Amino acid sequence: MALLERMSMADADGQSGFRSVMSDCIARRATIDMQIDGAPSQIDDPAIWNRKWQRFSLSLVRANIETGEDEGQSDFDLASEWLLRFTAGVLALMPLEPVDAAAAGELPEGFPEGSREQVQVNRYERDRRNRAAALAIHGLRCRACGFDFGERYGEIAAGFIEVHHITPVSKLGPGYVIDPRNDLVPLCANCHRVAHRADPPLTIETISGLVESRR
Ligand SMILES: [Zn+2]
Ligand SMILES: [Zn+2]
Repeated sequence: MALLERMSMADADGQSGFRSVMSDCIARRATIDMQIDGAPSQIDDPAIWNRKWQRFSLSLVRANIETGEDEGQSDFDLASEWLLRFTAGVLALMPLEPVDAAAAGELPEGFPEGSREQVQVNRYERDRRNRAAALAIHGLRCRACGFDFGERYGEIAAGFIEVHHITPVSKLGPGYVIDPRNDLVPLCANCHRVAHRADPPLTIETISGLVESRR
């Protein structure tokens, strides 16, 4: 099946990731122009899905980046951030491909070694997609304490950050559709450990409060 056709049939998680990232871009004053089969289309229109797209174009314009209203970040950093957002949005619509995650040396914690089960692979791919969307929206800084791995350790750790499910996956009902904006949050390894010292996990506000009260 053609890629565009498969993108138009993205599952509910993929659609949610796409909407979430794109509406975050709009909240950051970007203009999104999406055309499907030549017609201007809205990201939150349910009728755009399952239509076997023949043509798809997506453009994102963010004006006035160079006017210095973005807290003195370098042009390169800003361009990278926007590219990351755009890519994460499109990535959300990509078909899930079975990958040999174990062989890639990328199995997340808790996965049985050498697991080849399709259902787990699919979940793993879904997690990667959600992770990309969450980081595009929330950035790479720990939401609880503000820690940034690249800032502290330099190049070797740049971009390293853990992604925490605000509501544990085990507590989400079957078929729950993750919204990367509201359900996922970047946490440094320390804050992430602290969050899971309690069950249900401590809230981000609680951890921030603990850190703040000791500053
Ligand atoms: Zn932290
Ligand atoms: Zn967690």
